[in-house]
Amino acid sequence: MARTVGVLGLQGDFARHLAALRRIHCPSRLVRRPEDLKTCDALILPGGESTTFMNLMERTGLAEAVPEFARNHFLFGTCAGLIVLATEIEGGCRFRPLGLIDLAVRRNAYGRQVDSFSERIRIPLFPENPAFEAVFIRAPKIVRLGGSTEPLGFHRDEVVLARNANVLAAAFHPELTRDSRIHDYFVRQLIG
Ligand code: GLN
Repeated sequence: MARTVGVLGLQGDFARHLAALRRIHCPSRLVRRPEDLKTCDALILPGGESTTFMNLMERTGLAEAVPEFARNHFLFGTCAGLIVLATEIEGGCRFRPLGLIDLAVRRNAYGRQVDSFSERIRIPLFPENPAFEAVFIRAPKIVRLGGSTEPLGFHRDEVVLARNANVLAAAFHPELTRDSRIHDYFVRQLIG
């Protein structure tokens, strides 16, 4: 049976994730309330603004429902979604992240002039062609990886894609390019 991937639709670029899932013929639905998770087999947390995400997740009950859902489902966070899933935000923040993937992030870590850029990263998961064009928008940096968190993608020598058990997280925006290999990996290899 085809799996349905939910996309958190409170704020940010959720529409681009829905489009990426359509390109790989994966059924999807928006998630705006805890009940919406009932019909999902996995959840994507998109890019956007992490403080706004956490506020809205707290208001809607999703701040409790998502960790519960994560106990037996796959999650994928991109950019602000990665920040929300992290265990630690360097320097602190107004909100406590959900702590669903063991890593620490530094928000807006690429500085003002280079707020946004697109560059090739390396993803050894794709041995035939490890190069992947990655779009970074006011991106966070992963500054520490927990012992059981696996580095999967590299920008120069920094980790920008990581996985811990059922949680995948990217510092960049794979939904903004037409290369669907990361969505495909999430849907076909992880969720299966
Ligand atoms: N800078 C944003 C934050 O801290 C993340 C940016 C993004 O998702 N593109 O939440």
